[in-house]
Amino acid sequence: MAHKMQSLVCRECGKEYPTEAIHVCELCFGPLEVKYNYEEIKQKISRSAIEAGPLSLWRYLDLLPVEGQGSIGINAGFTPLIRAKNLGAFLGIDELYIKNDCVNHPTLSFKDRVVAVALTRARELGFETAACASTGNLANSVAAHAAQAGMQCYVFIPSDLEAAKVLGNLIYRPKVIEVEGTYDDVNRLCSEIAGERRWAFVNVNIRPYYAEGSKTLAFETVEQLGWRTPDQVVVPMASGSLLTKIWKGLNEFHKVGLIGPVSTKVHGAQAEGCSPISTAFKQGRDFFKPVKPNTIAKSLAIGNPADGYYALITVAESGGVMETVTDDEIIEGIKLLAQTEGVFAETAGGVTVGVLQKLAKQGIIKKQDVTVAYITGNGLKTQEAVVGSVGRPIRIPPSLAKFEQTFGQPGEA
Ligand SMILES: *Cc1c(COP(=O)(O)O)cnc(C)c1O
Repeated sequence: MAHKMQSLVCRECGKEYPTEAIHVCELCFGPLEVKYNYEEIKQKISRSAIEAGPLSLWRYLDLLPVEGQGSIGINAGFTPLIRAKNLGAFLGIDELYIKNDCVNHPTLSFKDRVVAVALTRARELGFETAACASTGNLANSVAAHAAQAGMQCYVFIPSDLEAAKVLGNLIYRPKVIEVEGTYDDVNRLCSEIAGERRWAFVNVNIRPYYAEGSKTLAFETVEQLGWRTPDQVVVPMASGSLLTKIWKGLNEFHKVGLIGPVSTKVHGAQAEGCSPISTAFKQGRDFFKPVKPNTIAKSLAIGNPADGYYALITVAESGGVMETVTDDEIIEGIKLLAQTEGVFAETAGGVTVGVLQKLAKQGIIKKQDVTVAYITGNGLKTQEAVVGSVGRPIRIPPSLAKFEQTFGQPGEA
């Protein structure tokens, strides 16, 4: 029986490669992607088998790029899909859902999905050292999973990250390398290091496998909606990988016979201060111009996005759009989500909610559209962004009289 993973294939010229730790085509330098044997998977996969699987992303093992079982990150994924009635009422959307990766395991962002898959595969390929170039959340997740797996670990981050994201590395005791520069500088350095050491850089040489982990956000959405596809989804973009893989995941479920044809519109969200992909879309271009990031949405601050081109194609293919929000709108988005649904998202979530709000206002997302917004990271990691705009506690001495001075007598008011 052939394996479910057939090869790595170049997205540009189609040349196929063995499923090893390689990520660019030697002929045309195009990015490599995992190619599956869908006919074979179709024979085996079923809704009931998935439903009987583990309460993690590994319930979709048949469509993930590993040979054995998930061995690292065994609790990642299967986060709540929240019916957001209050936010939906506010925005005029009857059936709105929040896919809440603020509570992903173990490091409270969607990155636990991609790292679980990448490091499970890295272990299968014999790697002993895990590494990454990160805008923050990825480093946290690689460091935590490497600790649990007993792997050596090097994480590379820009030098301007939020305190909680820096601490969220150090606690696991990896080597934390703070590079004086932007994420794009970090990434370039990591590509050079990956060329000369046998380390599993999850988003460089392991990237084809890493990226597949994002599909599980689409798989879970469909299953949690009762095997329905949403009409509209809003996805935050950094490199653009997550957005392309949500689309790939939806369409794979169709290919293996779990659902009918997909007509979901996929919308991309960026911060105005780092919006190379959204800006290209709005200007009607199919290529983007790299930018120097300047936004509070640091987890999305990639000026030269590796999958930007494919994100543009994906959004066009699905009939979606791309939008941007200012830093002030990001803060408003974070507060709106917290105050309507009780979910405290990081800045990337503010980008998603801000763009969701714009699309509802513009009539692109309509009242009757089943809509899912991807909330990809936890607000406790980006406190700096909102600390100045949430007011202060009301301080009183431990005295009933003082309390009543401020809040009145019972029965008054
Ligand atoms: C990394 C990240 C994203 C998007 O990642 P892509 O590079 O576009 O796949 C979205 N939200 C958060 C919180 C992230 O950390």
